[in-house]
Amino acid sequence: IYGAKRRNSRGVNLNIRSHYYPLMEKMGGFMDKQYPTKPLLAFDVADDSANSHSVTSPFDRRQTVGSVQWTSKEQAAKALDAAWEAFPRWDATPVAERAAIVRRLGDLMEEHMAELMTLCSREGGKLLTDGVDEIKEAVDFCRYYAMRAEESFGEPIHLPGPTGESNRLMMGGKGVFAAISPWNFPVAIFCGQIVAAAVAGNTVLAKPAEQTSIVANRVIELLYEAGMPRDVVQLLPGDGPTVGSVLTSDPRITGVVFTGGTDTAQIINRALAARDNAPLPTLIAETGGMNAMIVDSTALPEQVVVDVIQSAFQSAGQRCSALRVLYLQEDVADRVIEILKGAMSELRIGDPRDLGTDVGPVIDEDARKGLMEHIEKLKGENRLVAETPMSAEHTQHGTFVPPVALTIDSIDALTREQFGPVLHIVRFKARELDKVINDINGRGYGLTFGVHSRNESFAAEIAQKIRVGNVYINRNIIGAVVGVQPFGGQGLSGTGPKAGGPHYLQRFVTEKTITNNT
Ligand code: NAD
Repeated sequence: IYGAKRRNSRGVNLNIRSHYYPLMEKMGGFMDKQYPTKPLLAFDVADDSANSHSVTSPFDRRQTVGSVQWTSKEQAAKALDAAWEAFPRWDATPVAERAAIVRRLGDLMEEHMAELMTLCSREGGKLLTDGVDEIKEAVDFCRYYAMRAEESFGEPIHLPGPTGESNRLMMGGKGVFAAISPWNFPVAIFCGQIVAAAVAGNTVLAKPAEQTSIVANRVIELLYEAGMPRDVVQLLPGDGPTVGSVLTSDPRITGVVFTGGTDTAQIINRALAARDNAPLPTLIAETGGMNAMIVDSTALPEQVVVDVIQSAFQSAGQRCSALRVLYLQEDVADRVIEILKGAMSELRIGDPRDLGTDVGPVIDEDARKGLMEHIEKLKGENRLVAETPMSAEHTQHGTFVPPVALTIDSIDALTREQFGPVLHIVRFKARELDKVINDINGRGYGLTFGVHSRNESFAAEIAQKIRVGNVYINRNIIGAVVGVQPFGGQGLSGTGPKAGGPHYLQRFVTEKTITNNT
């Protein structure tokens, strides 16, 4: 089965994966390795077994990956002292030097691809194919931000002035940034936040997600190997509210770059605003989505289904960009649903390290429980359209949720983001299109959106009216590429600027105009 070109009964191409063989051979050495980890701070951290948490694999909770010693409040405060002291020195370091370290990290991650993707799989439950994409994205972030920093901050911008007066606009770091990241892109987002802040001249306190701190630890070890001083970037694993409260309450934090849930972003925003005598902070928050796709009667059903399967179920639906609500125009709805059912019945759920697996586990038991409650509720209302069969043999020791498709009446039926392989389907009539667009916009999220139509002006009109960060026409709605599809949302989905885009680094710098009357 490995690498075979599989097609489902409707001819939808599911997998072509043989080019992963060479990497798989290298992964063997990391499949069972145990990783005992501690905070990586500017000072040595003593062992504290009472504060150490064992990490197990989402696909089989009997397998351990290692342990994570969480950062205490005192250590977090001391790390902040070190970051504060290091800032002027790092900010004065030539941008070319900072960029060179970031580039070296990209090279090192590429060299250590097999280990990092194995860890993404063992700790985060990622498919190997997703793991490769993840590390490549992290490498892209390093190279892209290094290039943009050199282009944008290398030399001051010379501005016009009256005779005898020179005007220069200088860019420098803002101070200490807290970088708080989620588990679903434990290398790419984690690394992207840190290198953007650091290459722009800031020192960084990085707080990885509780669930994926081991792979984060490995990335920071590589960053130190690349030449990053230990007081410039420090790793503070631990529980969100505990470490987070130090990072968001101290007036010396000049900025927070956050990716995660909308609720958490709001907590952080309030904590930053409540600080007395603190400078007004920068908050860059990339948050959740309630992403929709509209399919009109001119769309190609087979193509729609391929793109829906990828958008809704790849990474077990645990992408902020994943498709949650599929709006099908009634003339095409039955045909799309028929093909979708066939494709969903062909998906394989199981161990993410097996190249034949299409859908791996969800991240933990809390996630599984929340998703299953939602699914059961809609099933109880007779709303089930399709469900991928799940065999106990492959899933009994992990936290798995089968891909499901369920009907709802409109996006308003969803009270919260369902962060897993759950697709909701709404049928609509052509004359209801304006209401559909108003409903999607009115929900308040604005991350990704898709439209499938062979009518170009229809697609263009919808793309113009919809209020989201990333619109995809006639393709899937996931997998934005650094420097190609700058990524990020609006409204409840984020503050901007877009990660992997030309304006991202500007939010990490402060500008100073120097006028000299010579
Ligand atoms: P989360 O909000 O639970 O956690 C994110 C991070 O915030 C973690 O490191 C966590 O420890 C930390 N945190 C929690 N409470 C905190 C507090 N009080 N103060 C400071 N930090 C705190 O999110 P998650 O479950 O890790 O990730 C999934 C969410 O992330 C989904 O909503 C998804 O849509 C979103 N996401 C968005 C993007 C994007 O680019 N828009 C990308 C990936 C994920």
